[in-house]
Amino acid sequence: MNNRDGCLGASVRAPASARKPRALRSVFTKLVAIMVAMAAGLLLLVAGFFAFIVGPNLHSSIDELLRDYTRHLAATAPDLATAKERAARVNLHVRYEGPAGAWSTAPDMPTIDEIRRGAVAQRSAVLLNRNYYLVPGPDGGTYLFGWSLGNRMNQIHTALVALLLGVMIAVIVITYFTLRQLLQPLKRLNEGVDRLSAGELDVVVAESTHDEFGRLTEAFNRMVGRVQGMIAARDQLLLDVSHELRSPLTRMKVALELMPANPRRDGMAADVTEMERMIAELLELERLRSGRGLEIVRQDLMPILRDVVATFESTAPGVRIVAAKTEIFAAIDAEKVRTVFRNLLENAAKYARPESRPVEISVRQEDNTAVIRVTDDGPGIPESEIESVFEPFFRVDRSRSKNTGGYGLGLSICKRIMQAHGGDISLERNRRSGASFILTFPLEGAPGAP
Ligand code: ADP
Repeated sequence: MNNRDGCLGASVRAPASARKPRALRSVFTKLVAIMVAMAAGLLLLVAGFFAFIVGPNLHSSIDELLRDYTRHLAATAPDLATAKERAARVNLHVRYEGPAGAWSTAPDMPTIDEIRRGAVAQRSAVLLNRNYYLVPGPDGGTYLFGWSLGNRMNQIHTALVALLLGVMIAVIVITYFTLRQLLQPLKRLNEGVDRLSAGELDVVVAESTHDEFGRLTEAFNRMVGRVQGMIAARDQLLLDVSHELRSPLTRMKVALELMPANPRRDGMAADVTEMERMIAELLELERLRSGRGLEIVRQDLMPILRDVVATFESTAPGVRIVAAKTEIFAAIDAEKVRTVFRNLLENAAKYARPESRPVEISVRQEDNTAVIRVTDDGPGIPESEIESVFEPFFRVDRSRSKNTGGYGLGLSICKRIMQAHGGDISLERNRRSGASFILTFPLEGAPGAP
């Protein structure tokens, strides 16, 4: 969470489809799935076309031709040697039974009687898979021709399916890499949108193509520019209004001083003081944004934290430091850091419930970063508002804040102070259902340390 400046951080509840794994939700996966489905469909279509249309037609044409050929062959009354020589050329098997005896070009050829009785099925699947032609010879004998058409067709089918599978795999691989390349701009745009929604307003996405993605990227960059402009204008307006209000407020204060003391005057004076405080905080917010007004000194964070904690120990629900380093040296502006600790503890006390346990503070050091976690036991902040609480004037529940007297500037000041130190403040819901604010300070040598 890095919600620097404005209204971009409000998170929206994720739709049900977002609960699917990220890979299944990506356009890339969907396009690859469509291509695979199309390739598989095409494969089935081609295979079906061959199996149900080309195959049977081919089969019957070949059958017709073979019938003619066997008749022609039988008319020449071939003997065993001629039949063998002819049969080898076209993969035919021949059997003869008649006045010239009985012979066969292949030992497994069924007898003519077996063919007539339809008894081939009991012998073997290979024999059954052949086409048989019974043709009378000129000498009164009978020729039986057998041709393995089915087996040949199966071989052709297998080769065809293997070829189509190879083509399909090649198509999928080429599609995968082409789509990956093609969708690169979309991926970059997506990252840009993520960064923008996390509050990085200076994001610029590189325009690498001139197609729809290129135009989309250009429009996105333009939109970011406009958002930056709008936020700058909003900040400027706040600043100008704050400046302008200072003089009339001073005049009102003087006028109130001159009025005779009475409860109405005291009420108005309190209102004027509150307005003055709000204006002072707004001006402070602006000064921090431009990085002005910070007096950075390398010093120990812990005494500052202990001091602030001490002032809240007797305020309900109380505070305790549960895990702490003895000292943590960082380059900080002590007064500003004190303001951050005080704001967080004031909020924890303001929003505490009667039964709330004491606020817990833990201090850890992770590599080059000091991490301070302030955990309370109050009502917490709804998940959907977590990104927005650091925006100026944001209040989770306006009626709640009215009772507690806040106007939503405390956390945005904390954010600016932490960012001016090169650190950050973020928020989590904790297991006690309250809020956990996490402060990070870069220590000496860490990137971003002042
Ligand atoms: P305020 O002056 O209104 O407290 P802040 O900027 O400090 O302004 O806080 C913004 C809003 O965040 C508050 O109005 C409140 O609704 C919510 N909030 C801040 N701290 C807590 C907390 N510890 N527990 C619950 N809600 C909180």
